[in-house]
Amino acid sequence: MQIRYLPENLINQIAAGEVIERPFAAVKELVENAIDAGATRIDVSLQEGGKSQIIISDNGCGMDAQDLAAAVDRHATSKLKGNDLVHIKHMGFRGEALASIGAVARLKISTREEGSESGFEISVEGGRKGEVMPSAHPSGTQIEVRDLFFATPARLKFLKTERSEYLAIKDVITRLAMAQPQIGFSLSHNGKDGLKLPATLDPQSRLSAIMGREFGENAMKIEAEREGLKLSGYAGLPTLHRGTAQHQYLYINGRPVKDKLLTGCVRAAYADVLHGGRHPLLALFLDVPSDEVDVNVHPQKAEVRFRDPGLVRGLIISALKHAIHEHGGAASSSVSNYALGSFKAGQAPAPSLPHHRGTPAVPRSYAYGGGGQSHAALQNAQAALHEPSSEPVFFEPVTPAHTQGSMAVDMAPAARVEHEAHEQVSVHSDNFPLGSARAQLHENYIVSQTSKGLVIVDQHAAHERLVYERFKNQMEESGIERQGLLAPEIIDLDEKDAARLLSYKEELHKLGLEIEPFGNGAVAIHAVPALLGAKADVHGLVRDLVDEIAEHGNALSLEERLNHILSTMACHGSIRSGRRMNAEEMNALLRQMEETPLSGQCNHGRPTYIELSLHDIEKLFGRR
Ligand code: ADP
Ligand code: MG
Repeated sequence: MQIRYLPENLINQIAAGEVIERPFAAVKELVENAIDAGATRIDVSLQEGGKSQIIISDNGCGMDAQDLAAAVDRHATSKLKGNDLVHIKHMGFRGEALASIGAVARLKISTREEGSESGFEISVEGGRKGEVMPSAHPSGTQIEVRDLFFATPARLKFLKTERSEYLAIKDVITRLAMAQPQIGFSLSHNGKDGLKLPATLDPQSRLSAIMGREFGENAMKIEAEREGLKLSGYAGLPTLHRGTAQHQYLYINGRPVKDKLLTGCVRAAYADVLHGGRHPLLALFLDVPSDEVDVNVHPQKAEVRFRDPGLVRGLIISALKHAIHEHGGAASSSVSNYALGSFKAGQAPAPSLPHHRGTPAVPRSYAYGGGGQSHAALQNAQAALHEPSSEPVFFEPVTPAHTQGSMAVDMAPAARVEHEAHEQVSVHSDNFPLGSARAQLHENYIVSQTSKGLVIVDQHAAHERLVYERFKNQMEESGIERQGLLAPEIIDLDEKDAARLLSYKEELHKLGLEIEPFGNGAVAIHAVPALLGAKADVHGLVRDLVDEIAEHGNALSLEERLNHILSTMACHGSIRSGRRMNAEEMNALLRQMEETPLSGQCNHGRPTYIELSLHDIEKLFGRR
């Protein structure tokens, strides 16, 4: 065996494999260079998803002839003054982007230094560097990359479709642009406009240009500081969430990152208010003294390392939690905390319990609860899905016995109970594992008495699970029933979202959703699963599906993917919180839960009901 030194060209190709993995990585490096050059305008134009051509023009400082010749060499940079890898002030510092791109593509740089009379250009093709030549280029720099990876055919094979390369580029520019509102950005693809972000002095206007109005209206301002670390930005209210973490923009010292520590902090901060699978929208900027963070740990600088990760975690989590609590209603008192501690998350009851429907002993008060009728009642409930029913059939608002005196004022304002069925029901409530419904609280919680204590059911979460399971059954048996819409629903989406959704057209069709392209990022929905009913919120459903697909994409098996989509649809087909239910409907729901596997948790992993035993209740009241 003989060791030999690799030729420069090969070294550059190897390095390029890390730095320039795909077209978006080349664009990222080049846009970062333009930012570092002090540009106030950066225009990007692409052909074929950047595979055949990327042109980036900026009005930054430009280069003179000597710098231009050096710029394309490996480890040549103007950005590490004093060889200091700690106090990094620029986006770039490794001096390998241009060399790497030149090694694997046809690169041409035209530039003119600010205030200089003459411009220059240079070409590098597959690592072969040409001469610096005069050029009539105006002030600033234009970089042209053609035939990316022509020199490394192995890499060429791994490129994705034109569309997904384009979308990745759009994402990378958007992320950089968020932190640079003072720079105007534009992007075009195959001659068509893809992104236009005019320069602005107001970071918030850039933020809403990118995140949309909905975010602007539902965001909490974040501002916190601890031991020299500064956090600022906007975080969405917990009620504004998506199926993926895609809409989280995280920055460290102005650099967009996809750092696990930071995303973990976000998840932790929202854990109490947002459950598995849902993600808040936010844009957070962390400013850290440069000796507290090492940005030189990832070839594309997407991850960083902190000297004191605990400090960072503490700052981010507490700032977010603080904001959430301030905006999210009162904190619970110590008593209710204790009570909560005694509540146990429910587990699905064993399917073959002795007290099953149809036993002769079922008392007459169960006439509305048992057996085959439960299905019908639930379907009635479903028919009225999206309009809260105005008049409860069996229930009346509670009238406190003593209405005078301050104590009565805030007693159970939203509780409604079934008066006449009380005695009859309570005697036999132990007949069913989930007991019999006694009241609906806050239009979402069914309180039911069981032989051992009481159960509180989250009606939306529970029903979601039932719909999901029914979807799965339909799938297995006969395929999902479709229901055509009288007029197709046209839904405007982000181009990238529409493209992604349409690539699942066939799978969605099998699941009962008929979708067609409608031009310019819009899609037309022609049919929805019949289980969702004609009044389904198609817009909301499609938006969630888009997120669902973006998140899980190809990472899951077909079956898993279908289940995820079904689960998203189930959520839209479920009894909303806020819908009043009568006793019949509530008991029907309880009975169906008892018959449905996994009914103890909703599709997002939250419990669908909690149980408090008499023993616990007695403890709460100091009786034990
Ligand atoms: P780095 O950005 O890490 O320094 P690059 O290979 O990306 O390495 O760039 C090498 C050098 O070329 C930069 O340090 C900079 O001096 C010069 N350069 C690159 N792009 C531009 C540009 N758009 N405008 C002015 N100078 C540039
Ligand atoms: Mg660079």
